[in-house]
Amino acid sequence: MVQDINQVFPNPFKGIQVNYCVSTGCENFGRSDVSLYQLVPNNKALNIYFCPKCGAYPQIINNRAVYETIEHQKRYHALSLTACPKIECESHQRAVHIHPEDYRSFGKTNSQKQRYQCRSCSTVFTDQLSYVNTHSETQNAMFYGMVYSFGVRNICQKLGITAKTFYKHQRAMVERLKYIAHVKEDAFFRQTEEVHLATGYQFIGKNQGTMLVATAHNPSGYIVAFDSNIITQMSEECLLETSTIQTLNHYVDMKETDIDLLADITAQYERIMARSNYLDPTSDGRTVQHSHKGEVMQPYLTCFSHALMLRKRMNHKSRRYYFVQQDTLLRNAYLNASLEELVSGEDHLFYYRESAREMTWFDREALNIRQVGWWQDKWGFISNQGKTKGACHIKGPHLPRETWQSLLEQNSLESVEHYLASASDFFRSLGTTLNEQSINDWLHIYTGYYNFCWPHRNGKTPAQLLGLFERPMTLGELLNGYECY
Ligand SMILES: [Zn+2]
Ligand SMILES: [Zn+2]
Repeated sequence: MVQDINQVFPNPFKGIQVNYCVSTGCENFGRSDVSLYQLVPNNKALNIYFCPKCGAYPQIINNRAVYETIEHQKRYHALSLTACPKIECESHQRAVHIHPEDYRSFGKTNSQKQRYQCRSCSTVFTDQLSYVNTHSETQNAMFYGMVYSFGVRNICQKLGITAKTFYKHQRAMVERLKYIAHVKEDAFFRQTEEVHLATGYQFIGKNQGTMLVATAHNPSGYIVAFDSNIITQMSEECLLETSTIQTLNHYVDMKETDIDLLADITAQYERIMARSNYLDPTSDGRTVQHSHKGEVMQPYLTCFSHALMLRKRMNHKSRRYYFVQQDTLLRNAYLNASLEELVSGEDHLFYYRESAREMTWFDREALNIRQVGWWQDKWGFISNQGKTKGACHIKGPHLPRETWQSLLEQNSLESVEHYLASASDFFRSLGTTLNEQSINDWLHIYTGYYNFCWPHRNGKTPAQLLGLFERPMTLGELLNGYECY
């Protein structure tokens, strides 16, 4: 049977369409009209079509899989708001701590939880997080037990609690930390000023299928979004094929040769070209293992929905600058997420690379622009604080050299890569016996600790640098109650 392009080109699914020519200079860039493209023979390993305008072979992506991944991430980050419980009420989406004017205090329950009455519909409800958390010390001890790999059984024994209580505390910690993050971040997300974001991903071990993707706000280093690809109950087509083994090797990143930044950039382009699916870093012939319970999603699906979800939260921003690791899965993730603003708006998307030592092949006084790699992408380089930094302007409106230069001076991937490295260490310390829910719960708790408690830059926490707190908080304080935040 001869197929035609209409049979292979995916239809949009619930408003999601991420299939189009991704060559930024092409006339068909960002256009999903099937008549613009041509069919090519496909097999299981190859899943592409042809763009006659530029000669590129875009990868076919399952829109429904992207939608499913978004739904998964929504559930993962969903928050039970303390707000009017009546769904039809106008205050239903307006949390007590962000819109106190919508509510009046209405006494306390026997267990000292605060009650409120909604001013618009008079419904009375209880704030479940308002009481002083008598378990905060236990919960705090659980966290450090996990950091030091004591294992759930030992931690329970030491604290004199059952496994069931352990998991109950774990859920309670996630709820509190999610709530604090929500309340604290709200003002930031509503500000309209431009925003600089740095995104990276990392596999948690050598040949591991499990990965993390995260985005930091530059320059504070505050992690505004994070996701893992560990999952249960996902359709087959979303999953990464892995073999199961029970050991975890420490990750050795061999990407950097540090001989020459240009050579490193070119080598990375070649590595991407050598993949059978250029969006899948594991399709380079390596064997991929998965040591945890549950399954792992295709990393590009996790990255795509990560970017799409984050873009929504950044809706109020006047302009978004995205700096990402040099990899197509992140590049295309933000092309999808901010397509309109990158083509005709104010957003900019960059690859970012740097070298630990200063390169000597260019004039260090000014931005040096070169075309690099197979695609002749335009990279700008500067010397800054003993390093050479490079950013490839992938898409966005015209970029004056001075702006390019000052963006390079201000930005890097340092924060996000620091988070990814430390979160991967934490991930490994959890061992391989936890289920998917627990693993992802602990990632939530770890990220709360990272943002609010760990003063790793000049004695300040990322939350301090973003202006959310005035000092480093202890996890115990955060878990304890509102007086502290
Ligand atoms: Zn094209
Ligand atoms: Zn109401």
